[in-house]
Amino acid sequence: MASRVLELNKAPATEGTCVLYVMSRDQRTRDNHALLEAQAEALEHKLPLLVVFNLLPVSGYRKREHYQFMVEGLKEVEADLQKKAIPFVVTIGSMPKNIRALARDMMPHSIYFDFSPLRGPRAAQKELAGAVDCRVVVVDTHNIIPVWVTSDKEEWAAHTIRRKIHSHIEDWAHEPGVLRKHPHEFTPKPTGASWSEVNEILEKIPKSGIAHSFTPGEAAAKRKVSSFIETGLLKYANDRNDALANAQSDLSPYLHYGQISALRILLDIMDKKSHPPQILTSFKMPIHGKEAHESNSIDSFIEELVVRKELADNFCFYNPHYDSLKGAKDWAAKTLADHADDPREFVYTKAQLENAKTHDELWNAAQNQLRKSGKIHGYMRMYWAKKILEWTNTPETAISWAVEFNDSYHLDGGDPNGYVGILWSIAGMHDRPWFDRSVYGTIRYMAQSGAEKRFDTKKYIERWT
Ligand SMILES: Cc1cc2nc3c(=O)[nH]c(=O)nc-3n(C[C@H](O)[C@H](O)[C@H](O)COP(=O)(O)OP(=O)(O)OC[C@H]3O[C@@H](n4cnc5c(N)ncnc54)[C@H](O)[C@@H]3O)c2cc1C
Repeated sequence: MASRVLELNKAPATEGTCVLYVMSRDQRTRDNHALLEAQAEALEHKLPLLVVFNLLPVSGYRKREHYQFMVEGLKEVEADLQKKAIPFVVTIGSMPKNIRALARDMMPHSIYFDFSPLRGPRAAQKELAGAVDCRVVVVDTHNIIPVWVTSDKEEWAAHTIRRKIHSHIEDWAHEPGVLRKHPHEFTPKPTGASWSEVNEILEKIPKSGIAHSFTPGEAAAKRKVSSFIETGLLKYANDRNDALANAQSDLSPYLHYGQISALRILLDIMDKKSHPPQILTSFKMPIHGKEAHESNSIDSFIEELVVRKELADNFCFYNPHYDSLKGAKDWAAKTLADHADDPREFVYTKAQLENAKTHDELWNAAQNQLRKSGKIHGYMRMYWAKKILEWTNTPETAISWAVEFNDSYHLDGGDPNGYVGILWSIAGMHDRPWFDRSVYGTIRYMAQSGAEKRFDTKKYIERWT
């Protein structure tokens, strides 16, 4: 039987004094299969359970505002765990070093991780698994279907993974269990870094300057889901590409930090909209835009929340070059190479782009939206990344700058969705060849006129200038 749990080492079963769950990508206490599996193991062996979060003082391009959002969410996790008599400890620095030290002191029966397809967490988990004597496992509680169950290879495009998701989803889209009050206590209680020590670290991290409006934490995420289902969901198919309509869910920061799971959102939609589970295997390639009907909205949203999101994890899990041109398919790498020497009408420096100083007011508005609010509208993200290809000397530079801007300013940055969105825009990932043109080759082009058909671009420019 396929499982959410993957063994990271072959350590023999040890007696142990506790079970550790090292929380990382899934920063919530509800609907967290890694936490539930760890508790089940602890209960079976009548052991205490400890949740550890290891804070990295440097994490990709993350800025202070990202850390603050995350840390506020973690304080809520700590309070929720306290109600369940489960201690929560923060360690600071190298994860393998810190957890190894904890394991030496505590001699855990087993160590549980949650899952990320990105190279940093995977390498750290692998290092730890090779360095301790106890069983180490990873549990995919971020994807609705565990990434290794959906497919055993890098998928070509949305249409190839959609079929696989359809064939599995009914087996996996179920209510997870409920976290119990833990009956086995630690004596003495383990301690880690205090929140004031964490704050000292945060104060050393440079700010991005974004002033976002997202309230951090699991409770806020739940409220956002409810209000989206009540008031936004049925407008999704018609209005999601209107950058002025507020028709997207705004759930990406919560999903990115795991403060809510995609599974919970899906289950709530099925429950509140009285949609039977068949919707999961019958949803079609949705219709967007004017010709869409309300009923397409749920399909549209599921397409993004499940198919596109799980495709992004699939890509990053199976392709080690998920954030560079090396990750591109042959046809895309070839067409970009064929057009490498094409003259560029505009070439901007990194500072000009970062400071929204281009000739294109629409692009500048998107960049301003990013730097001010920490979130560009979904439609404009595609336009934004494609123009970076058009205005830099090489696609490699375009990808590297797009990743840096994306991850420094987007509150949901540093996510598989971001790497795939950037490669989709600049290197045709999960797309197909279009008409050949200068610089882009056969990578799909996006013109300002496309945006003008979808929303009032003048108003958008006014709002973000
Ligand atoms: C250049 C570029 C950069 C991007 N950077 C990021 C990023 O850093 N982090 C991030 O989470 N998403 C990123 N995306 C994907 C997408 O634009 C955002 O997930 C979405 O706009 C977030 O807003 P929302 O939660 O209101 O989305 P909604 O439209 O309400 O969608 C709900 C959820 O579905 C998922 N989703 C939606 N669109 C996509 C997509 N195209 N691919 C994968 N999953 C999707 C997300 O988890 C999203 O939160 C990027 C896309 C592009 C083209």
